Amino acid sequence: MALTVAIDGPSGSGKSTVARAVAAARRLAYLDTGAMYRAAACWVLDSGAAFDDLDGVAALVRDMPLTVGLDPAGERFTLDGRDVTARIREPEVSRVVSRVATNLKARPLLVDWQRRLVAAEREPGGWSGGRGIVAEGRDITTVIAPDAEVRILLTASEEARLARRSLELSGSADASAVAATRDQVVRRDRDDSTVASFMEAADGVTLLDSSALTLEETIARVLALVPEV
Ligand code: C5P
Repeated sequence: MALTVAIDGPSGSGKSTVARAVAAARRLAYLDTGAMYRAAACWVLDSGAAFDDLDGVAALVRDMPLTVGLDPAGERFTLDGRDVTARIREPEVSRVVSRVATNLKARPLLVDWQRRLVAAEREPGGWSGGRGIVAEGRDITTVIAPDAEVRILLTASEEARLARRSLELSGSADASAVAATRDQVVRRDRDDSTVASFMEAADGVTLLDSSALTLEETIARVLALVPEV
């Protein structure tokens, strides 16, 4: 039986790290949908197109030569044959990624693509050999994989999310590092929430608040919800 595990939640909730660990533990593929929006933002940046040209950006996204890595042990992304795995995490990209994600001409193209990637992992020819996938991102439990066997909304307080993202980006969670991270967490979630709802659990979605949990505890809570396949 194939398994789809869908995890959504706001920035800094830990969903990428948790999803990757759960996929590795259960030998499932791992889909980081945020990385696809980030790659699309790189593609637009490199093309020189204006982000407010909604049709132009959608046309670029439609033909984007992106390969999506699904290996939880180290997913690689390439754009036109170039490895962009590190570049998509750069602040230049984080600053503009919501411009692509909130483009309602481009977003449905990525949504379709992500649905196809999830469906392919339920078939023998997929990366996981038909075992299934852990897919993570802002609208996974509601739009991309509403029929997933396991649906989880991972949240944490704003304070915890800011401190975690700040540690991840600058190695420090002191006041100035946290202030510098605020744009990456609070502003981005505010912009993104205009097109995806990820702060409240939809019907049938398990809410998991990780504010007071360590990463290991959070992974264990999620694994307890994911059957062995
Ligand atoms: O999760 P990550 O921070 O890498 O996501 C980058 C951006 O991609 C988000 O800020 C959001 O704009 C967009 N995104 C989205 N829907 C998803 C995943 C990511 O709109 N399913």
